[in-house]
Amino acid sequence: MTTKLTALTFDDGPTMYSSRLQDLLYQYGVKVTFFFIGKMVKRYPKLAESAANLGHEIANHTWSHPQLIHLTDKEFIKELEQAHSIILDTTGKTPTLFRPPYGYITKAQRSIAQELFGYQTVLWNFDTKDWKQPNQSILAKEIQNHLESDQIILMHETHESSINAVNQVLSSTFYNKSNFVTTSEIRLRLLKPYSNS
Ligand SMILES: [Zn+2]
Repeated sequence: MTTKLTALTFDDGPTMYSSRLQDLLYQYGVKVTFFFIGKMVKRYPKLAESAANLGHEIANHTWSHPQLIHLTDKEFIKELEQAHSIILDTTGKTPTLFRPPYGYITKAQRSIAQELFGYQTVLWNFDTKDWKQPNQSILAKEIQNHLESDQIILMHETHESSINAVNQVLSSTFYNKSNFVTTSEIRLRLLKPYSNS
């Protein structure tokens, strides 16, 4: 039987909650993917660096979180380039994944991201809508309900309730922590479902 994997992904950081989130992920030995905003990396460089040093996947979520479909190509490229540069300079890691703010991107922009930066554009399978700040137990249950199939789960680093929900999920014992992987790992697995690795 094939193991079901889950990629927890956190957008819009680093933030004032990143330190606590990184601590608890470390505590449970879980690796996730952070889709960082360039401006926030500039504001919290040490948290971006520690996320990379802890082995998490670092990905691009633009410089200033605009609605991309309204941008010219030049503006779009600048958004990606500035974020790419600061992530590389701050963490030493070259991002390979890109997630458009609000999930909106044109076909042409996808191609540009691929051609100029080698980016795969990644959305999600399950949106927790955690930014609405639901009760942490409700949110934790929502996450747990989506752990049984290969899923890329969208969360944010912007609210404490999200961090508490993740803590609640990881502290429950029924789920194997090694089934949490980075987005790149899950994508590789889904692309090659019958590999014998
Ligand atoms: Zn975002």
